[in-house]
Amino acid sequence: MEVMLTDNAIEILRARYLARDEAGKVVETPAQLFRRVARAVSMAEACDRPLWEERFFRLMEQGEFLPNSPTLMNAGLPEGQLSACFVLPVGDTMDAIFECLRHTALIHQSGGGTGFNFSSVRPRGDRTGSGPGTASGPLAFMQVFDEATRQVRQGGRRRGANMGILECTHPDVLAFVRSKEDPSQLQNFNLSVGVSDQFMKAVERGNPWALYNPRDGKQWGELPARELWGAIGQQAWKRGDPGLLFLDTINAGNTVPSLGRLQATNPCGELPLYPYESCNLGSVNLRGMVRKDLQGHPGVDWERLGATVRTGLRFLDNVISVNRFLLPQVREVTLANRKVGLGVMGWAELLIELGIPYASEQAVDLARNVMGFIRECSYEASEELARERGPFPNWPGSVFYPKRPLRNATCNSVAPTGSISVIAGTSYSIEPLYALAFKRVGILEGETQWETNQVAYRWLLERGLWTPDLEQHLRDNGGVSGYQGMATGVRELLATAHEIPWEYHLAHQQAFQEHTDNAVSKTVNLPRETPESMVSEVYWRAWELGLKGITVYRDGSREGQVLQHCSRS
Ligand code: UDP
Repeated sequence: MEVMLTDNAIEILRARYLARDEAGKVVETPAQLFRRVARAVSMAEACDRPLWEERFFRLMEQGEFLPNSPTLMNAGLPEGQLSACFVLPVGDTMDAIFECLRHTALIHQSGGGTGFNFSSVRPRGDRTGSGPGTASGPLAFMQVFDEATRQVRQGGRRRGANMGILECTHPDVLAFVRSKEDPSQLQNFNLSVGVSDQFMKAVERGNPWALYNPRDGKQWGELPARELWGAIGQQAWKRGDPGLLFLDTINAGNTVPSLGRLQATNPCGELPLYPYESCNLGSVNLRGMVRKDLQGHPGVDWERLGATVRTGLRFLDNVISVNRFLLPQVREVTLANRKVGLGVMGWAELLIELGIPYASEQAVDLARNVMGFIRECSYEASEELARERGPFPNWPGSVFYPKRPLRNATCNSVAPTGSISVIAGTSYSIEPLYALAFKRVGILEGETQWETNQVAYRWLLERGLWTPDLEQHLRDNGGVSGYQGMATGVRELLATAHEIPWEYHLAHQQAFQEHTDNAVSKTVNLPRETPESMVSEVYWRAWELGLKGITVYRDGSREGQVLQHCSRS
């Protein structure tokens, strides 16, 4: 049987996912890939294994649910490392730092991404234990990590991604904030300043802000809180980095607080994790979850969505059981919490199918309902798994104890789905469409060709609005806005990322975050002409709304991006 895939999907699968023999020749079809993954993941089943293999296969084959890339690439193969997300600890000794670098290289090689909080590293210029020299500081080590990442490609299939975090109390924080001033620096890192509520209040009041040396806990210096805040906004406006991580909000939502504070996330921010903890993700394709009622009105197919989420969650729990862990430390923490991150993709396309503009209260309400429903179904599935297989070992130290035995310490995350949404043939994660027509750069050959978003195309075609003239307009402008005679309702429904006011970007992030136990990866896209002060405003509002983190991308502000959303330009 051959599965239905877009040309883009076939191309990306051939380039990076399909298994190869020793000579590098592709030795499987997409259907065989889904079969390989389904079989490997079903090995965790004690009863009815073939039945589960079939269910998992159908989910992927019909493009309803896909696990994160390393699972697609490695399941059933000798590599067998299936998780996309890791956090590693960085100590304040040469030994610890280079041990961490070695672990990072191994993880990148297997297709995983890594996040680090560098705040334990003593500041630049501090004394060192050995000899008369002074310390290089966290930034110097980040450059070493960056260079190592450049050299180690992920199993030859993509480059590793990193999240570098420095907390707002670290003496080197201002240099960290400005470290991408030169855009050739730290290209394999997303940067986030870890901020506390106390810092945000100091900014609000215009107070001084103290910096502490992590080596001895003594005060190192101070600066006006607003100076640091201003630098963050300025750099984010200029370069798209740094983002913010709201560490107090993250910890307020920690489901296993007995293990201590969470201090870092994976590269795209959707997973706060403990040192050495790993997590595997999977996303439901919302675009496929539409059903017409008897009058022919489209609505969400709740029944199908619920069933997909339940099987998807079981799939992800199985992935933990069949995973090959690269390091004993990773195995220990990961198996003790059994975190998974089930999320979504195709949100923008679902909204178009339902005729609801992204920038509307109706869309935000639906976001809340959809994610609330997904969360409930995931938790029910995890509860059922706990009855069958036992709760996660740290359950007694979790917020769920003793009322709700669960198999997984967390169930949901909203990942960027940079590659798997291309495989599923839908829009990224919860992002609005970036453009209705775009030039596709061939992954291998480098040739370009024009493509139109198929959902928008069909919508226009069915209403008799599609013309060659409109097609040309979309190629020239990316969207329908500015096209003579186009009704306001159509312009609103098909608005692209830069036309969506930032308030609605945040409103969607918040609506999904409200029902996500981990976090939501979202890029607030801003037009090129956005004033600098607006970035600070967006960041401020993100904190007020209770988001766990925030990233902006002003058009044209970043040259080399960590994640290549490879098939579109
Ligand atoms: N990731 C990575 N390298 C990449 C893309 C992603 O290591 O080039 C990791 C990273 O931890 C990220 C996670 O995979 O947060 C999920 O990203 P995404 O959803 O875009 O991955 P996909 O499964 O679609 O490849």
